[in-house]
Parts: sequence; structure tokens; C-alpha cells
Amino acid sequence: MNEAATTAIRVEQTRQSKLPQVDFNNLKFGQTFSDHMLVADYVDGHWTDVSIVPYGNLSLSPATSALHYGQAIFEGMKAYRFANGTVSLFRPHKNLERFNKSALRLEMPEVPEDIFIGGLKTLIDLDRDWVPGAEGSSLYIRPFMFGTEPALGVHPSDSYKFIVITSPVGAYYHKSLRLKVETHFTRAAEGGVGFSKNAGNYALSLHPTRLAQQEGFDQLIWTDANEHKYVEEAGTANLLFRVGDTIITPSSDTILHGITRRTIIEIARHWGYQAEERKVSVKELIDGIEDGSVTEAFAAGTAATLTPITEIGYEGRIYTLPDPAKRVFSNKVLQYLNDLRYGRIDDEFGWNLI
Ligand code: PMP
Repeated sequence: MNEAATTAIRVEQTRQSKLPQVDFNNLKFGQTFSDHMLVADYVDGHWTDVSIVPYGNLSLSPATSALHYGQAIFEGMKAYRFANGTVSLFRPHKNLERFNKSALRLEMPEVPEDIFIGGLKTLIDLDRDWVPGAEGSSLYIRPFMFGTEPALGVHPSDSYKFIVITSPVGAYYHKSLRLKVETHFTRAAEGGVGFSKNAGNYALSLHPTRLAQQEGFDQLIWTDANEHKYVEEAGTANLLFRVGDTIITPSSDTILHGITRRTIIEIARHWGYQAEERKVSVKELIDGIEDGSVTEAFAAGTAATLTPITEIGYEGRIYTLPDPAKRVFSNKVLQYLNDLRYGRIDDEFGWNLI
């Protein structure tokens, strides 16, 4: 047994649940928070005071290092309620793995499994009534960590907070996406932090995304920093394409390695499709749309699972993809993932953690 496996979690329950005030039929993403949160502090080289407390404000020094130098990372994951009431987490160890990779790159401490997984299991068990049961709804889980040293000067913080908050979310409307291939701004360069889920990657995306939205697009497709020649990922989702019986997805350390993307690739291979993780040039994609060989294109991520892409804008022209209703692989995999996450089919891969 490792040291961490013995970490005790102190639980302080709320005196007044906010649950009766929540309208579960009208949930706006990320606006409603459940009764409790998990908080742990990293001080003097150790995690201490792992607690579940009523959801509430933090008190921080204005010199808090993360506010100045950006040592801040996070994860996004979901808990689902089965028809029989069981609450399940989908592949949470993959989030832990990615979280600790992000931590390492930003010179932050790792969070041990028993605090991350054990902590969030205890938290969700306490707030289990907050996990919605309607089809498409779930409890969104946001683990995050930031440097708390109250001092200026660029150096790694000597203290950190790890916090998990949760938020019930309603069914996602799978609106088709109109994406613009970005050829001026850059999200991530080789050797940078593109693979990590740090706050700065999202801050830098806001302005270019706003400009694309003013042109009528929903989101960007980022391209490589060197030549803007290779397709990378969308704002908060990875990209997958189908050509014949092959599912193709861009691969590089400049993209976030999505758990939904990984899951879809594993399912595709299991079903007998080929799956290729490799560089995909903008030219290959555009040519494939024009000659009809790219029959499906979609964005994959925790928020929406899978969203069809119907239009791609590149250098002033719009390229249109086939009707989403006719896309066999995308529709089948989305149905399969929903059935799996809500416990309606056998969990043949062992991905649900109950
Ligand atoms: N890329 C980016 C930049 C993201 O923010 C996300 C959402 N976490 C994804 C891809 C998809 O990752 P996942 O499937 O793990 O949610």
C-alpha cells in the first residue's frame, strides 16, 4: 500500500442543501454547483488537510502566484446516473493521468490517486442526488490545481490548492459545427504546453475564437505553429475524420490528448475499422471533402461527446460535408457511448467506475 492510500478525508457537510432550489430541466452549463467541494493543500512538499466542505468562496492573497504567472491546470469529466440509480464515472484514471502530465509540465506537484480518484468518489457519493438522470444529462466534474504562494517573482509556487467542484448539466444539443481553419493565430508550438490542460491554453484561444465567431463560425480548427499546414484540434474538442473504413485523427504533442478521442479510436478498432493517429494536412482534408472521400467529420470531447462538422472555412472558401443524419460511424459510436455511460449495455471494456 502506498503512503497516499491512507490519506484520510475530513467531511464537513452542509447544513442547508441547495438542491430544492435547482430546476433540473433548465440547467445552463457550468452555472449551478452542487453542495460540496473537495479541497486539499500542498504545503512543505506534502498534500495535507484533504477535506470535503460546503461549496463556497475562497480567500486568497492578491499576490497568489497563479494569478500572476499562470500555474493553473484543470480537468473535465462526468458522472452518469444509470436507470437503476447507480452513479458511474467514465474512465477517471485517464483524467488523473493527464492531470499529472499537465502538472509535471508546469512544474507543479502530482496529485496522488487516492486524493484524486478517492476524493472525487467520496465527493460524488455525498452529492449523489445532484447527478441528473435524464438522457444526455450528467454531473460535470472539474478538478483543478493552482499555485497559492503569496509572493511575486517568477518561480514555481511553494504551495498549491487542489480543488474539485461539480456541476449538474443538462442534455447537450448536438448542433452541427461550422469551423474555420485558423491560419494566422497559433495555439501551441512543438516543445510548448499544447498537450497540457492549463488555463493559459484557453485564455489565448479567446480572441482568435471571437474573431472567427464574428465571421459566422462556431469554433476554430487550430493548425500547426510552423506552417499552418497541419490540422490540430478544435477549441475544446479533438477532430476525427472518416475516409472509407478508416478513422483518422491528428496526432501531435501540440494537441490535448482527449479521452473521448482515445475512446472512439479504441471502439473503432474493436469494430474492425482502421484507425490512424497521424499528421493530417489541411490540403488532405480539403481535397478529401471536395472529392467526397471524407464522408464524416466530427469533434470529440467530454462536453458534447461527439458533434458533427458540416462546414469548414479555409482561406475564404466554405467546404461542405455530407448530411450528419447519414453518417453511419458517428451516429453508431455516439449511440454506443451513451448506452455504455448510462449502463444500458455490457461494459465490455471496463470503462465505467462505479
Ligand atoms: N482539446 C481541448 C483543447 C480540450 O479542451 C478538450 C476538452 N477537455 C478536448 C480536446 C477533448 O478532451 P476530452 O475528450 O478528454 O474531453
